[in-house]
Amino acid sequence: MHLARFPRVRLAHLPTPLHPLPRLSDELGIDLWVKRDDCTGLAGGGNKTRKLEFLLGEAFEQDADTLVTQGAVQSNHVRQTAAAAAQHGLKCTVILEERTGSKAVDYVGNGNVLLDRLMGADIRFVPGGSDMAAELERAAVDVRAAGGRPYVIPGGGSNAVGALGYVDAARELVVQADELDLQIDRIVTGTGSAGTHAGLVAGLAVMGADIPVLGIGVRAPKAKQEENVLKLARETATKLGRPDAVTAEMVVADCDYVGEGYGLIDQGVIDALTLAARTEGLLLDPVYTGKAMKGLIALARAGKFEGERVVFLHTGGAQGLAGYHGELEPALL
Ligand SMILES: *Cc1c(COP(=O)(O)O)cnc(C)c1O
Repeated sequence: MHLARFPRVRLAHLPTPLHPLPRLSDELGIDLWVKRDDCTGLAGGGNKTRKLEFLLGEAFEQDADTLVTQGAVQSNHVRQTAAAAAQHGLKCTVILEERTGSKAVDYVGNGNVLLDRLMGADIRFVPGGSDMAAELERAAVDVRAAGGRPYVIPGGGSNAVGALGYVDAARELVVQADELDLQIDRIVTGTGSAGTHAGLVAGLAVMGADIPVLGIGVRAPKAKQEENVLKLARETATKLGRPDAVTAEMVVADCDYVGEGYGLIDQGVIDALTLAARTEGLLLDPVYTGKAMKGLIALARAGKFEGERVVFLHTGGAQGLAGYHGELEPALL
């Protein structure tokens, strides 16, 4: 594994911190640590920043002048892409899917959307259920017709190029743990468009680190999520010259905590957000890390991590909290 072979544009503040969560650990009866990828630094940071380093590398290699991507209305990926574009003098066209159906003023105008606008992204809204691959293609055609040179980034930055960012994160985490003589029994992360989970699995497999990764699903059912992650992890390992490194047993998703659906908040998520905030001053988000923590809390309380040291990968997203003001405020009385 030699990541310097791949073009890369430095965007993130690395390494991100790895630290214990003593008060939350006491609450849950496990030894819980957090890997702070909410602190990657790009306009609020989050997990998409690591992926964008390799995606931008490829965009520059192709001499692109416009980044084109898509996401849900409160997408953190879109915010980080808009920031990367602004920082590098590129244009940015984004398509926002009204995936949750919410028309709340804060949801459609505050949080991440407000920041996308602030950073100058050209925004197009499309109804929930739209064919987003086709929408991306259409947007790229429009950019070309206007004389631009588009570089299309899939939703969540999740292809084998983007996943290299999480291969690097796996390496970084193992190096940090080894420096601290800290044995990690398990990594827990949210898993959505799959690039984070797949990159971690591929990176750990290629290193031979043998640390199990549990992805907590935020959208798709378990079989579909595991299939998506496995496929991408294999493509990523192939890019690293180790096509057989990833086995199906390495990919585990628990999709029992999605609740009503993607981006829809429930009491379990609110409880997870408040517990992390009130024990550790740790800000999670309603769509990804709050759901992942809801799952982690339930599994820890059910004794599933008994005696383990668990690292929670904090993938960011707190910039979306303002988009959920209407749901959150009454729950916080
Ligand atoms: C996108 C995102 C995830 C999920 O990562 P994927 O690579 O899409 O699976 C998790 N947490 C946050 C905050 C995100 O924005």
